[in-house]
Amino acid sequence: MQTKILDYTTQKQEALGQAKSLILSGEVVAIPTETVYGIAANALDGEAVKKIYVAKGRPSDNPLIVHISELSQAQALVKEIPEKVKLMAERFWPGPLTMIMKKSSLVPDITSGGLDTVAVRMPKSQAARDIINACGVPLAAPSANLSGSPSPTNADYVFADMNGRIPLIIDAGPCEIGVESTVISFTGEKPRLLRPGGVTFEQITELIGETELDDAVLNKLVDGAVASSPGMKYKHYAPKASITVVKGTLEEFVRFVQGRDCFVLCFEGEEKHFKNAVSYGRADNALSQANRLFNALRELDEKGADTVYARCPETSGIGLAVYNRLIRSAGFNIISL
Ligand code: AMP
Ligand code: MG
Repeated sequence: MQTKILDYTTQKQEALGQAKSLILSGEVVAIPTETVYGIAANALDGEAVKKIYVAKGRPSDNPLIVHISELSQAQALVKEIPEKVKLMAERFWPGPLTMIMKKSSLVPDITSGGLDTVAVRMPKSQAARDIINACGVPLAAPSANLSGSPSPTNADYVFADMNGRIPLIIDAGPCEIGVESTVISFTGEKPRLLRPGGVTFEQITELIGETELDDAVLNKLVDGAVASSPGMKYKHYAPKASITVVKGTLEEFVRFVQGRDCFVLCFEGEEKHFKNAVSYGRADNALSQANRLFNALRELDEKGADTVYARCPETSGIGLAVYNRLIRSAGFNIISL
């Protein structure tokens, strides 16, 4: 299969037309969003959604997020919309927030990975909203990487993973946030944060009160445990290099890596201390880290890094999302100095 790239800024009408015609004929298309690039298909067409799993090599029990452009589209996908979901939607949609509710029979089982719940998000990216609007159907879209690899935050990285596997990539430049959406479930007694993202835990608890933090956000799932979010049990965001997250001050870190044959994943401005360094944002700015993390992981592979020691981010605000992705990319290899 030939994989075509269309630029959303300079070829908007053609991009919208081709995305619509492919998606409505049951094909998949890679689309930009403000979080990361996604591979989209008609969420209500089970055969089309199957092609997403095939293109990514994704296990079929790992459910997809359904993207909408209007609040009215959510109603048909779920049994009911809880009051707290309405509050959250009013405040954070459109935006990097996915909410899980009991699904309606309209949503095929393959879209929800066989669960009786469905994850719904209204993205903020204008290109994503235009594409959903043009199609007139909700779009199931996981990140546009091969299963297990870091998520792509630009069209080149989508192409690197998906060339020959999908017919079309819509390029709208780099993603504004760079890590996937916050995922929160409203199917239990209390709201439960399953995956941190651009909408922070602090913002959520301030708006809707007590919210549980799923164990899998900060820890490796214990063998045999049932994952609240099936994606959490799989290898994730992993580059070819073996990564170790190192907790400690810059000074301790510099001393620790001295004399070791390794690469370092550090913060901007710290590169001068190391022989082989790739940086991921500023130490005091979590959004800049989110912006850079997945690209930095891919750059380490491009440079042929084998062993990597990573500086550890703060875990407040968007930092929690950065930390959550980094420890997974490291296979939970974490040391404290
Ligand atoms: P991605 O598609 O790569 O952004 O990943 C979506 C994440 O949301 C995965 O970790 C999924 O397991 C999770 N997810 C999607 N739908 C559900 C659901 N119905 N219940 C629990 N987790 C879900
Ligand atoms: Mg993903």
